[in-house]
Formats: sequence, C-alpha cells, structure tokens
Amino acid sequence: MHRSGATMAWNVFKFCTALRGLGSIMILLVLGVVGVTYYSVVLNNYGPALYDGGLDSITAVVVLILFHCLLVMLLWSYFSVVLTDPGSVPPNWRPAMDEERGEVDPLNGSEFNGLQSDPSNQRIRYCRKCNQLKPPRCHHCGRCVLKMDHHCVWVVNCVGALNYKYFLLFLFYTFLETSLVTLALLPHFIAFFSDEEIPGTPGILATTFLAFVLNLAFALSVLGFLIMHISLVAANTTTIEAYEKKTTPKWRYDLGRKKNFEQVFGTDKRYWFIPAYSDEDLRRMPALQGLEYPSKPDFDSQEYQTVQPLSASNCSLPPASSSGNNSGERERERVSRKAADGCENGGWLMGTI
Ligand SMILES: [Zn+2]
Ligand SMILES: [Zn+2]
Repeated sequence: MHRSGATMAWNVFKFCTALRGLGSIMILLVLGVVGVTYYSVVLNNYGPALYDGGLDSITAVVVLILFHCLLVMLLWSYFSVVLTDPGSVPPNWRPAMDEERGEVDPLNGSEFNGLQSDPSNQRIRYCRKCNQLKPPRCHHCGRCVLKMDHHCVWVVNCVGALNYKYFLLFLFYTFLETSLVTLALLPHFIAFFSDEEIPGTPGILATTFLAFVLNLAFALSVLGFLIMHISLVAANTTTIEAYEKKTTPKWRYDLGRKKNFEQVFGTDKRYWFIPAYSDEDLRRMPALQGLEYPSKPDFDSQEYQTVQPLSASNCSLPPASSSGNNSGERERERVSRKAADGCENGGWLMGTI
C-alpha cells in the first residue's frame, strides 16, 4: 500500500519534471491567455460598445476600467513572483543558540550527530546536496529555499518566504480578473446558442468563445487553489508542511489567525493588496527575511514527538537516531524530498483541473 503510493507519486513527479522542462514557455502561455482575453474583451467587445450610447456605453466604461485595473495588479503580482528570489540560505548560515532551552550550537557538538530532521522541531537540519545547514522550514528544490511552499510551473520559480505573498496576490487578482471576464463575456457566449444573427467575423466569434472558456476554467481552478492557500495561511503552514504533518494535532508556528496572516502580508494595511512590504515591516519582522520564525509560547515539542508516528509511510520524518548515521540522514532527506515532490504535483494538478 505504502510502496505503491510512493511509486505512483514518483511517476507523477516524472511527468511534472517534463512540465518544468518547459520553463519560460509557461510565461509565454500566461501572456498568451492574457493576450487572447485582452483582444476579445477590449478590442472586439467592450471597446466598440463604448460608442453604442446609453446603458451599453456605461457598462462598457465600468467593465473596461475594472478590467485594466485588475490586469495591472495581476501582471505586477505575476512578475513579482517570477522575478523575486524565494529566499536562499546565506553562505555559512548558523542557527542562533537557543539559550532558553539551554541547547548548544550543534556544530560544537560531535559533528552533525544528533541533528534532527523533524519538521515540527526547530532543531537544525543539514542538506547533503548543498552541504550546508538548513534553517527551519527550509526545503531543497534545486537549491535550498527558505520556507519553501512549492515549485510552481506557472511562474517558473519556487514559491518561498520572500515571494509567497506575491504568489497569493497573483492568485487573488487572477481570480477577480477571470471572474470579471467570464461575467462580461457571458452574454456574448449565450448569444452563440440563440437563433439570432450575431454580428462579427468568424475569427472574432471564435476568439470570444475561446476567451470565455479559458477564463471560466482559470476562475474555477484558481478559486480552489485560493481557498486552499487561505486555509494554509490561517494555520501558518506551507504546502509542504501540510503534507508532512497530516497527523499533527499541534503546530508550533500557529500563532493565531491574525498573526499568521501578518507574518505573510505584513502589519501595514496599505501594503496588503500590493506585492511589496513596508520598510518597517521588513526591518522588524524576521519572518519576512525567512530565517527565523516565532513559535507558540506554550509549544511543547516533547508532546509533539510522542504523538508523531515513527513510520515514514505518511511522510512524517523519522526521528534522528542517536548515532546520526548516514543512511538515517539520507532517509530523512528522501522523505522530505518526496513531500516536496508531492506538493509540486498537487500544485500542478490543482492549477490545471
Ligand atoms: Zn539544499
Ligand atoms: Zn523549485
């Protein structure tokens, strides 16, 4: 059961690797959809309707203003996700000593023995591929990515600590824009199935039909994705962590809905709906830099460890063995990697319907 599940996940991942090979073509695809939509809504339907007079002109003005505002926000968010580095580990990064618990810097101990790979635990993990220590919530995807959420084929980038907000805004504005277009083109789409004569060349009619179907499909699939991510933000969980901690009743980073939200969007309301942060937030919120995350004051990691199953079949990570041998470390990396792959697949499948 566990074996077949793992094999299947791996095969789907092979499929995803091929999609990732498309690389920047995905950006052209997104711009292509935007282009077809623009041509249909602005140039063929609502632009000409401006001169119809009466209610038609007023509707056209409203649709065109909303369409262009949302398009600017959508493209701004999109290119912010594409171009912003999701966060990489600074060279020679070392964890700060946890004085409260009296834990010492693990590097002063016996090599990396006893380092833990437990995702619920802030103790330090080590990436064998990058040969460096991993900060909490960091995962490897080609390189180590801070608070990695998933690898998104649509933005040809990893989504992590520094561009997660931009990714969420991209989803938000895509949902609003595609919903607006779906509603705006609905009367034209219905007209296809009526007996009346429809004005326009076959090319224009075909573009309107295509734009309607594409925008409806995106609106529905993005809505699902958006709802999922809103619940993840509310619980202060990444997609990878949600996959890893299925059976965890408590989560150390969950600080309550308001604080969890602010940790992603910042505390300054003026910046909530734009892909940027205020300088003050960037300065005083370590979570926005991706290396440190406050945890629940009353969080008891011992309690967590007793409820965590020891089996790797549900993708929770096995506890570190006291000898810290190589095969144990490799197994933890493998399970962690599998969890990351699962998210990539999930992200892709949800993004396509
Ligand atoms: Zn790495
Ligand atoms: Zn990636």
